[in-house]
Amino acid sequence: MSGVPTAHIWLPYTQMQNAAEPLRASHTAGSRIILDDGRELIDAVASWWTACHGYNHPHIVMAMEKQLHAMPHVMFGGLVHEPAEKLAARLAVMLPGPLNRVFFADSGSVAVEVAMKMAVQFGLNQGDTGRTRFLSFRDGYHGDTLAAMSVTDPDEGMHSLFRGYLPEQVIAPIPRDEASRAAFRQLLDEHRHEIAAVIVEPLVQCAGGMKMHDGATLKVIADAAKDAGVLLICDEIAVNFGRAGTLFAHTQAGIAPDIICLGKALTGGAINLAATVATADVFDAFLSDQAEAALMHGPTYMGSPLACAAANASLDLFDSEPRLQQVATIEAQLKRELAPLTSLPGVVDIRIKGAIGAIEVADLHNLDWLKAQFVAAGIWLRPFGNVIYTMPPFTITPDELSAITGAISDILPRWADRTPTAG
Ligand SMILES: *Cc1c(COP(=O)(O)O)cnc(C)c1O
Repeated sequence: MSGVPTAHIWLPYTQMQNAAEPLRASHTAGSRIILDDGRELIDAVASWWTACHGYNHPHIVMAMEKQLHAMPHVMFGGLVHEPAEKLAARLAVMLPGPLNRVFFADSGSVAVEVAMKMAVQFGLNQGDTGRTRFLSFRDGYHGDTLAAMSVTDPDEGMHSLFRGYLPEQVIAPIPRDEASRAAFRQLLDEHRHEIAAVIVEPLVQCAGGMKMHDGATLKVIADAAKDAGVLLICDEIAVNFGRAGTLFAHTQAGIAPDIICLGKALTGGAINLAATVATADVFDAFLSDQAEAALMHGPTYMGSPLACAAANASLDLFDSEPRLQQVATIEAQLKRELAPLTSLPGVVDIRIKGAIGAIEVADLHNLDWLKAQFVAAGIWLRPFGNVIYTMPPFTITPDELSAITGAISDILPRWADRTPTAG
């Protein structure tokens, strides 16, 4: 390779004027990313939380190879195929209750857009034209497209920068205590006639800073939505498929969402795919003699056979390999190995849930230095906001996980000693 590798690439979330040169990935194996120069990094973040079985799992690779030769892609308009039918049927069985109608999308943000569109049109199809807003939460994150941004935390979603472009939603703090629960119920009650749905990330608000809440809090949110007569959308894109300790996070609260968004680890990290799953009640509201009552949405690559084959293979692995047990083991190891860090200067909080370990610091300074230190230690970590976190593949070995927690324990004190500078 010659020339500047990023001369024509516009990187995500990056000020291109002074961005550090990105590392060049060559290939992947197990929990590792191998760079062009031969260095190996243990991936502590499983490629944005997708690679739950580690990289290149032979079962997923084989299923995709087989599908690749038979039919890599075919349009989903007017055609269906076995990989999609099988995947939809399996998701319907795995998901609790009446969540049994699957709309495929090509990314998580689009799955959220579809969920929001479904919720608004659910009202319209019943003659209720006033439900044009959503209730969402501080520290929430639901994607980077415009409607998804509007239900993301106002700072994270850049609501002030994009004022006028983004619909204005009703935004509440996660109601963790009695006082905020009362306020939450009241807020929802005040807006009950204009709200199409409450949208929440169950148990862990990931991109918004790995903020956690318990099942009881999630139940309060779900019950309030039910009492107010508005739909509940659970965005499980980050936590689905075991990340928070159970196959789906919302089941820990025993609640019954009307719509759920799946993504990220749906294909085990092999290829993009997402889904919006609705209950029979939501689906039924779109059945009509009126053509315009139909859900008018159809991403070009929706339900790609190749992606569905990968997802089916990923689901096989949840059946055949002890993933949830591995998550429990990771959780216990994270608790043991991160606990001593509480006493470090600058550490504000340590949060662990399933295969998610987050260390909140008062001020995440010297970020480029910090990232470089982790790389030098052979660890791929991406601190952001004010958290240093790991969300490793579930197949990570105890030694590899110790290498991650060891690097954090080793580097954090040196980082805390540095004079804070930007970058
Ligand atoms: C990542 C994420 C999304 C967006 O998914 P993309 O595939 O990046 O569009 C939406 N919601 C949550 C909770 C996420 O973590």
